[in-house]
Amino acid sequence: MTHVAAPMSLIQRDRVRLWHPYAPASPSLPLWEVEGADGVRLRLRGEDGTRHNVIDAMSSWWSAIHGYRHPILDAAAKRQLDDFSHVMFGGLTHAPAVELAERLADMAPSAPGRSRLERVFLADSGSVSVEVALKLAVQFQAASGYPQRQRFLSIRGGYHGDTFAAMGVCDPVDGMHAAFPGLLGGNVFAPRPPAAASATPETIQEWASELQSVAAACSGELAAIIVEPLLQGAGGMYPYPAECLTALRQVADRHGLVLIFDEIATGFGRTGELFAANHAGVVPDIMCVGKALTGGYLTLAALLCTEDVAAAVSNGPAGALLHGPTFMGNPLACAVANASLSIIDVGTWRADVARIGAGLASGLAAAGELESVADIRTVGAVGVIELHDAVDVPAITAAAIRHGVWVRPFRNLVYTMPPYISTAADIEQITAGMTAAVTEVHKHGPERSGGAP
Ligand SMILES: *Cc1c(COP(=O)(O)O)cnc(C)c1O
Repeated sequence: MTHVAAPMSLIQRDRVRLWHPYAPASPSLPLWEVEGADGVRLRLRGEDGTRHNVIDAMSSWWSAIHGYRHPILDAAAKRQLDDFSHVMFGGLTHAPAVELAERLADMAPSAPGRSRLERVFLADSGSVSVEVALKLAVQFQAASGYPQRQRFLSIRGGYHGDTFAAMGVCDPVDGMHAAFPGLLGGNVFAPRPPAAASATPETIQEWASELQSVAAACSGELAAIIVEPLLQGAGGMYPYPAECLTALRQVADRHGLVLIFDEIATGFGRTGELFAANHAGVVPDIMCVGKALTGGYLTLAALLCTEDVAAAVSNGPAGALLHGPTFMGNPLACAVANASLSIIDVGTWRADVARIGAGLASGLAAAGELESVADIRTVGAVGVIELHDAVDVPAITAAAIRHGVWVRPFRNLVYTMPPYISTAADIEQITAGMTAAVTEVHKHGPERSGGAP
């Protein structure tokens, strides 16, 4: 008898050829095929052929704020395809890039008496924009007569990306420092700010003085402070008080440090203000944006800096900002970003985020009663269930899919960052699905569980 091998399924073909984010090259991890995406929904096909129509509670890692196949974004991409998809940015320019820089500068946080963020560098991903921000800070210090200022101050619990310099300012314990000893050292970390829900003027003040002493201890070697303002994302979905941003600005000014706000997760309305910095009326010297910039269509990020920083670096020893990606200013991505920002400009995001936030808070409240749940928190259009123990990610993912919701938990967190177009019914389904999944998979409190990976 001859055996004819059955053709491999798409998922099987994936398993023998591809890497996935933060994953082993392992044949055993669950995978779903996306057969379509529309509005807030993904059409998934499981390994066994079953189909699921689910709400994307992740907005494709916090980027698809307007949902999938948005007519305005689709039209912008098609229009730009008919013009040109890409041209180099060295020596050339184009309308999508210029318009995007103008839009970003116009919408950036500003405050009386503070230089505006008006100079824009277009990068190809969030991590790259963080790299460029750190380079820019070091080049600024050198140009200002401080070439020895090459280290960075960050706060614990942060996440800034996966490239080397970005990894180096991520949380030194939970981040990837242990895997790359000798390559990520040299930076300085202040404690994590107090949690937004329990902070008092006293704990904020205490934290601010610790920040001040960490900075003072090595200010002559520090180039910049970099933080995610108001909400630490991939470092633990951790909101902290806006007053801490004021303290960060004061410490930066006092020690001559460049203040970098990484708004890659928080930008474009997610926390309830256009940028998290707006909650405190604080303006950084450099701001990074990414993720939602193109409404989740294409990879693009940007950094904005003040004209003072830009001028100093341009007149400094190198005479230029030393970075220039091949796909810098990709016209297709810029055109879609302009379309996404035109939707933001209409302003309905503000009511949407407030409405979604209220829906998440009431929808998740019941989960707070579960034995396995340590905390429920929301900020803007972000809702978090924190467990006592590590999440059983494959089991929670599968359970949530059965309830019509796509989530991607990490560590001990099951969270959602839904698209802004989510209706009240969508939000109800997301919170009910998250709660049901946690109830089914993590039945017991911290003492009795322990089987979770
Ligand atoms: C996602 C993220 C990054 C990295 O962006 P990539 O586009 O994944 O490189 C950096 N900083 C923050 C705060 C992020 O959330």
